Amino acid sequence: MTNIKIHDKIFEPNIKFAEIDLATDRIAQKINSDLKGKTPIFLVILNGSFMFAGDLLKKITLPCEVSFVKLASYEGTKSTEKVRQLIGFDEDITGRSVIIIEDIVDSGITMENVLKQLESMGAADVRIATLLFKPAAFKKSYRIDYIGIEIPNDFIVGYGLDYDGQGRNLKDIYKIVK
Ligand code: 5GP
Ligand code: MG
Repeated sequence: MTNIKIHDKIFEPNIKFAEIDLATDRIAQKINSDLKGKTPIFLVILNGSFMFAGDLLKKITLPCEVSFVKLASYEGTKSTEKVRQLIGFDEDITGRSVIIIEDIVDSGITMENVLKQLESMGAADVRIATLLFKPAAFKKSYRIDYIGIEIPNDFIVGYGLDYDGQGRNLKDIYKIVK
C-alpha cells in the first residue's frame, strides 16, 4: 500500500481491511449473543458509518430492523463541536432495543447528542457499536458497548470516513501525514 493524496493532504496506510474485518466479526458475534431473542433496531449514523454498517449487518444473524440518521460535526479535519442533524429520527422506538452504529467516536459529542434524543423517545435499551475509538480525545463518560479498534488522536480517512467529502470509498483506513 502506498501513500495517497486527497485535496491538499497526504495520507499513509494505517489499518488494512483484514484487520477491520476481524474487529467487525468480534462485534457482530458479541451483538448476536448479547441480544439473543430480541429484535433490535440498528440506527446507522450517516455519512461515515455506511461502510461499517453494511459489513457489520451482514454478520448479524438476529431478526432486526435498520434505520438511518444523518449528522455532521466535522469541517475539514476538525470537529466543530456543534452537531447538525441533517436527516431525523422517524422510527417509533418505544420499548425497543436500539444499537447505534458509528464509524468513530472521537470527542463523543455526536454520540451524546444521539443518546439524548433516543432517551427522550422511550427506547427500552440503547447500545453503542463503534468501529473506531479515540480514547485520548473522548470527553464524555457514557459507556461504549462495542469498540472495534482503539486508535491514537490522528485524523484518518477511508472505509466510510472522509476528508472534505473525499476518501469514503477507500477499502482500507489511511492516516494523515503531518
Ligand atoms: P465526535 O462528535 O465524537 O467528536 O466526532 C464524531 C464524528 O466526527 C464521527 O462520526 C466522524 O464522522 C467524525 N470524525 C471523528 N474523527 C475523525 C477522523 O479521524 N476522520 C474523519 N474523517 N472523521 C472523523
Ligand atoms: Mg460518523
